[in-house]
This record gives sequence, structure tokens and C-alpha cells, in this order.
Amino acid sequence: MFDNKGSKTSLAELGEFGLIEHLTRFVELSQASTKKGIGDDAAILQFNNEEDVVVSTDMLVEGVHFDLAYMPLKHLGYKAVMVNLSDIYAMNAEATQITVSIAASNRFPVEALEELYTGILLACKTYKVDLVGGDTTSSTAGLIISITAIGKAKPNDICQRNGAKPNDLLVVTGDLGGAYMGLQVLEREKQVFKVNPNAQPDLEPYTYIIERQLKPEARKDIPTLLKSLEVTPTSMIDISDGLSSEIIHLCKNAKVGANLFEEKIPLDPTVISVCEEFNIDSTTIALSGGEDYELLFTINQKDYDKIKGNPNFSIIGHITEEKEGMHIITRANQKIALKARGWNSFEEDEQENK
Ligand code: ADP
Ligand code: MG
Repeated sequence: MFDNKGSKTSLAELGEFGLIEHLTRFVELSQASTKKGIGDDAAILQFNNEEDVVVSTDMLVEGVHFDLAYMPLKHLGYKAVMVNLSDIYAMNAEATQITVSIAASNRFPVEALEELYTGILLACKTYKVDLVGGDTTSSTAGLIISITAIGKAKPNDICQRNGAKPNDLLVVTGDLGGAYMGLQVLEREKQVFKVNPNAQPDLEPYTYIIERQLKPEARKDIPTLLKSLEVTPTSMIDISDGLSSEIIHLCKNAKVGANLFEEKIPLDPTVISVCEEFNIDSTTIALSGGEDYELLFTINQKDYDKIKGNPNFSIIGHITEEKEGMHIITRANQKIALKARGWNSFEEDEQENK
């Protein structure tokens, strides 16, 4: 199997996706019920029932995915559940159960973990999922939360990452870049606080984006809405790493290309004004900022009338033949290749993000 005697490859060299590919390249599936294993937002299991089961898992690590200096534990618990449910909704499925595993160092009193669970339980109640198990252990370095989410859907409703066809429309829910700019504001306040602990920041103008960072909501409503509109996307993914990286995932999985139109990217006015304040290009943030937990999907053109004008959706581009590549068409009508910046957990200069 693995044959690398004597060599030492750094994790940064492979990157997150490279590492997953590397470690899982010898995985063999032997169960007839494993309809889809590694490679999508969730695995798909088929047990000869009317509905398939989807399973997804994600881990949050203190100092990598969250900073307790500005992330209240209750919010952290809530967000950890959202991150996982988002992967289930990205399959166009209904989330039904979660398991929660935590590792905590003795720096955390019981009361702190109670706070965390208050958030987890609020999320379960709001999203109608049952907490059915998990694991608890100690850690020498901070807090780690790993959640597995389980869901269900009729086989014909399930949307994988690989179904996009040339001429399909590229659609995104909600608006983008808010979570990342919320993080920038919180980071700035943390630095101000370090210098002057008595400073009373006025965060009121930033409420929307700070909530996008601290209290994201997974798009439970979208699978339901799509069903009522009688639209089944040809492919779907959740936006955890930025629009650019997710478009590339959909294209690579389906062996197609895409044109994205800059002017169509949905941005909240707060994101636009805070980007100006920070002197950052808002398109770059929508493309590469992370953690928006909106859904990106493709639909057949025949479904255009069912989607158009719906305030939940923005049509941002279309799918092309693979040979045409993946591009963004700027407001100035320039065609620029999309790059998967995303977040690489192993790159030292991006420690604060996924
Ligand atoms: P997501 O952004 O949806 O969390 P990831 O990029 O983390 O997806 O993972 C991509 C795929 O690889 C998923 O199918 C996931 O289940 C799988 N995967 C990730 N890490 C591992 C691992 N250590 N072992 C096996 N499969 C993994
Ligand atoms: Mg993951």
C-alpha cells in the first residue's frame, strides 16, 4: 500500500484536499449499501428503503477554526452544528440526527462546556435534529469538537457534486462574504482590546456580518423550497471555503467548465461598505472568504422560470464545456481564470482560518 520508506513529506506540501486524496486512495468499498463514499458533502447509504441515508462529519479545532477570545461558547456550539447540517442540506436532504464528540483540556470548567451544549441543544431544537450520541475525552491543547450529521432523502432528490451539464445555470442562495468580513471586524476589535481593555467598541453597524460569523444559519429551508418549486438541482455543494473553490469542485466533479459573472454575485450592503472600510475588494472576499454556509447549485435551463425573481436565489453564471475552463467575467468584461484559494489548514500564514 503506502510505500514511502525514509521520506518525510510535509502536510503543507499536499494541502488539505491533497492529503485527503492521498490517505484515501486505497479505500475500497465492499458494502452494496454504500452508494457514494468519500468525495461529496455527505456519503450516501442505501438500505433498500424508500429513502437513502446521508452522513457527513466535520471537526472544529480551537486556534484553527475558532478563537474563544471573541467566540462565545454558546455560539460555538450552535455554529458547530450548523457547519455539519449545511453538508446535509447540500445533498438536498433533511437532517435528522447528530452525534457530538468533544475533547477538552482542564482549562475548561464544567460550566464552560454547559455553555457549549446550550448552543448545541438550541441548534438541535431549532433545526429539529436529535442528538443521539458522541464521545467525550480530554485534550492537552484546547477544545476540539467533532460532529457527525445524519439525514435522509428520496434517491431522486439527492444532489451530488457531479451532475452539472453544459448550459446549466449556476445559482447561489443568500449573499456572500459576510462571515469573512465579520471575522475581520472581530479580529480588529480583539487587537484594539489588547491595547485598551476599556475601549467600548460600537459594533452596531456590523451586526449583520458579525452574526454571519458567530451565528450562521444552515439553509434548511432550501431543500424544502426547491421541492415546492419542483426543481431538482443537477448538482449542489455548500459554500464553506468561498465561491471560487466550490465552483471548481462542482466543475471538476462533473468535468465541465463555468462562467461566473462578477456583477451577479450577491453581496449585502454591509459587506460592500465594510470592504471599503478595510480597503479590500468585495469580489475577492465573496470568491475566497469562507464560512458563508450558503448553497451553490446548478439547474437545467428549463427550470429558469421557477427560480428567477425568487429573493432566495441569485443566478450568477452558467456551466460550459470542460475545455472552456472556469472563469469569472468582471464588470469591466475581462475574463479571468478562477483560482481555488479556499483555506488550507496546513498553511502557516492562514492559521486563523479553516
Ligand atoms: P467538506 O468541505 O464538505 O467538509 P472535505 O473537503 O472535508 O469536505 O472532505 C472531502 C471528502 O473527503 C468528503 O467526502 C469527506 O468525507 C472525505 N474525507 C475528509 N477527510 C477524510 C479522512 N481523514 N478520511 C476519509 N475521508 C475523509
Ligand atoms: Mg470537512
